[in-house]
Amino acid sequence: MNDDATIKPNNFIRNIINADLAEGKNEGRVHTRFPPEPNGYLHIGHAKSICLNFGLANDYDGGLCNLRFDDTNPSKENEEFVNAIEKDVRWLGFDWQERLFFSSNYFQKLFDYAVQLIEQGDAYVCDLTAEETREYRGTLTEPGKNSPYRDRSIAENLDLFNRMRAGEFPDGSKLLRAKIDMASPNVNMRDPAVYRIRHGVVHHQTGTEWCIYPMYDYTHCLSDAIEGITHSICTLEFADHRPLYDWFLDTLKVECHPQQIEFSRLNLQYAITSKRKLTRLVEENIVDGWNDPRMSTISGMRRRGYPASAIREFCERIGVTKSDNSVEMEILDACIREELNETAPRAMVVLDPVKVVITNYPEDHTEELIAPNHPQKEEMGTRIVPFTRELYIDRADFKEEANNKFKRLVKDKEVRLRNAYVIRCDEVIKDDAGEITELHCSYDPETLGKNPEGRKVKGVIHWVSAEHGVQAEVRLYDRLFTVPHPDSDKSVDDFIDLLNPNSLVTLSKSVVEKSLASTDAGVVYQFEREGYFCADEELCKNGNLVFNRTVTLRDTWAKIDQ
Ligand code: ATP
Ligand code: MG
Repeated sequence: MNDDATIKPNNFIRNIINADLAEGKNEGRVHTRFPPEPNGYLHIGHAKSICLNFGLANDYDGGLCNLRFDDTNPSKENEEFVNAIEKDVRWLGFDWQERLFFSSNYFQKLFDYAVQLIEQGDAYVCDLTAEETREYRGTLTEPGKNSPYRDRSIAENLDLFNRMRAGEFPDGSKLLRAKIDMASPNVNMRDPAVYRIRHGVVHHQTGTEWCIYPMYDYTHCLSDAIEGITHSICTLEFADHRPLYDWFLDTLKVECHPQQIEFSRLNLQYAITSKRKLTRLVEENIVDGWNDPRMSTISGMRRRGYPASAIREFCERIGVTKSDNSVEMEILDACIREELNETAPRAMVVLDPVKVVITNYPEDHTEELIAPNHPQKEEMGTRIVPFTRELYIDRADFKEEANNKFKRLVKDKEVRLRNAYVIRCDEVIKDDAGEITELHCSYDPETLGKNPEGRKVKGVIHWVSAEHGVQAEVRLYDRLFTVPHPDSDKSVDDFIDLLNPNSLVTLSKSVVEKSLASTDAGVVYQFEREGYFCADEELCKNGNLVFNRTVTLRDTWAKIDQ
């Protein structure tokens, strides 16, 4: 075991693996896989599975983890999804090295195994229609009945299966089915489909080579076995499929027999972890693509500025169990804040600017003040923040009248400008509509880096030089849904009705300090007193500046939730 493994808390899967190793099972190997279907982008639930599978491989000496695309349903899959998944897994910090596989790599082997099943008398070609097949299957409380095609001879089955492959039959006209038990209390064991016919689709890996495709349950266990997987970890809904997983491997007498282990899916409050529903959000243009920063996809979280390490920490923190539960968004937010508080350089950005004129400061003069990039981390260095006669402060940081609880700028009172001087507001200028257009202030030149003589100034606000600041668009994101369980909320027929209309607020007149003008896309800053913001990876181009709010400084929903 690597050193790391001894520090990590054990979970029931690690206990199983430890016991297997102690017994000398699998020649001491630990080999897992992450098996996405390339029919959408990965989401936070997948992140948990990735961290678990790749994490286990990292923890044990010689441990390996494959990335395997489960690509048996070509009509919904494509190359774009393959590429996006690879990018996301890598970004999360995991490396499959040369162990990149596709179930479609095994189509010939899977076909040969199907022939073996037929030759053993364990599979047959069935001509029932889809509807008849459903009727014959029975229900949870009633047994099914045998298909009239169940007793076809081996020779006839071989002939028909070969002709299925040769393209002689139309879609839906025939199935290859495993011959198990139509009376099994487990519906999955009632002669499940092994191969179906699918004409006219181009598979992203195999093109038009095949017109029959193997079913998921059949493909999955055999792909695991072919790759020498030791522990095949999946989510709880597959527990009822485990007998079938084992049946195929036992019946085919496959040498390697991986152990299927189920854990509970991650459900995250206020988020969707169903690819089908995420696909709807994208296809109906409700969001700005799979990587919209409000999406619970890995690419959305990356674009929003969530550090990969914080997502890994989150997956570690929520643990691995067998009981279904739903995790509070606050846990994820806390992981993001903890990480960014350590790593994000600080910057001053005025989201909703109002102009301040320092009337006793010379015109055409710029003072290069020095500000630390992180208040506790000297090693992160300093930057220059230019101070000039005209500045911007945030509209919310000024009131004409306020009591002492308002520790910002008030008419005729003082406040400190962060990293700079103490100013006093002497005069408020308004337009005809009564809107404040300028604040005329005076500064105390003796207060740079020291307290003013004989009086206390408690408030500190941020600011940006009007001359040197740069205009930027800032996007404030909130939860995409108004309810904690949009996936299962019964108050509406369609989860789309639960969208939060305020999940995106765009501020187009924000002013960022000069040092951010040349920021690299993807960098996350703490905008002091406002939150963490990430330079948008798609929109920060050609001098355009767009920042996404990653997370607020504190949990603003706590009050509302109560
Ligand atoms: P979806 O229901 O969103 O389509 P899926 O399970 O069909 O998800 P796959 O691409 O088949 O998506 O999933 C790849 C792996 O990720 C599987 O092993 C699956 O069990 C796991 N996984 C998917 N969703 C979650 C989740 N919410 N929590 C934990 N693991 C998950
Ligand atoms: Mg799936």
